[in-house]
Amino acid sequence: MRTNIVAGNWKMNKTASETDALLDELAAKLPDSSAEVMVAPVFVNLAEAVRRMDTSRIEVIAQNMHFADSGAFTGEVSADMLLDIGIGTVILGHSERRAYFGEDDQLLAKKVAQAVKKGLRSIFCFGEELQDRKAGKHFEVVASQLKKALFGLPVSAWGKIVLAYEPVWAIGTGETASPEQAQEMHAFIRKIVSDAYTDAVAQKVSILYGGSVKPENAAEIFSKPDVDGGLIGGASLKADDFVAIIRAIS
Ligand code: PEP
Repeated sequence: MRTNIVAGNWKMNKTASETDALLDELAAKLPDSSAEVMVAPVFVNLAEAVRRMDTSRIEVIAQNMHFADSGAFTGEVSADMLLDIGIGTVILGHSERRAYFGEDDQLLAKKVAQAVKKGLRSIFCFGEELQDRKAGKHFEVVASQLKKALFGLPVSAWGKIVLAYEPVWAIGTGETASPEQAQEMHAFIRKIVSDAYTDAVAQKVSILYGGSVKPENAAEIFSKPDVDGGLIGGASLKADDFVAIIRAIS
């Protein structure tokens, strides 16, 4: 059985007091669900968020991490720093990191390797841009992203990998991949993981969908057999919407 996951990426939103308030509201309204629930506040609010969610089953996760152990990397945060405050999961390769901060597959391979070395779980994001899909290159692009960043990992690392397919054209745009498009791509991803490793590895890895998931469309997307939950941006900033999305997977 694969783990279902609903993870909220709060991006560069919410001050410290707003973070506390949203966490408290989420913890109070959290429905019973078999899915793991995670939220990713900004770095400066992580330590307090971890403390605050101590008795909740909401896992607080990070949005990013550097590949080095420590050193002269102004503005960056290391794996040990995350682990030290109780963080066990980090989002890597989000399309905004790729587009605005120049993160490419080679850099992301180093970040994932560092997370694996340190025992952190990675939620690895990838997905094609609109022009790739229009040109019919979406499978090729996704295969290349996974191959370059992940397929050098040993089999043993895959217990710490969660995949998040996020077509760039669907992120923050209100445009969602149809449930059929999501299923088609998720099945393809599972197949190439199986080809690169084994069917057992492919069957065990959770593959999340991300891109304008809302309470209205979540249940249909999550009902697809190869979709194991979602990475949620905008809709994770409102407790009622996020809770409704968690309910959609139960
Ligand atoms: C995201 O940023 O990972 C995301 C899926 O955003 P949104 O849900 O707002 O499209």
